[in-house]
Amino acid sequence: VRRAAKKPVAPASRLTPIASPACELCSQPGGTLLYRNRSLRIVQVDDADYPGFCRVIWNAHVREMTDLKPAARARLMHAVFATEAAVRKVCAPLKINLASLGNAVPHLHWHVIPRHSDDAHFPQPVWGTRQRPSSPLRPAAAAALRAALVAALAPAVK
Ligand SMILES: [Zn+2]
Repeated sequence: VRRAAKKPVAPASRLTPIASPACELCSQPGGTLLYRNRSLRIVQVDDADYPGFCRVIWNAHVREMTDLKPAARARLMHAVFATEAAVRKVCAPLKINLASLGNAVPHLHWHVIPRHSDDAHFPQPVWGTRQRPSSPLRPAAAAALRAALVAALAPAVK
């Protein structure tokens, strides 16, 4: 009688599929692409209230930071900080908000959000109660902002 080999328990990182068909960050870019490498991508979020709002998205469908090996975590945070620096340079915000939530989309990503004292939600989080109307950028200004972000990111990410 042959016994089935006992399967080892997979570590948490291998329980997560590379892509999940129901996940919007596996099937869509998640914004306008500013930078991409094999591991991650940086996008500008389509949000009229926050034209400098960027997102750093891990390409594989991974749920939590601790699902990544330490070197991969460091690569992701390097990209988050490079994005923060680029957004500071281009948008000159009063404050940067960094957030990793993923409650609605459990695919590892970081929000990098420039905040100004007169933005739509300040001093609330951008997901909080709207405090005032905002005036969206005209298309030419939005395109210029995107080009400036790409130029600021290029030397910083690798
Ligand atoms: Zn996904």
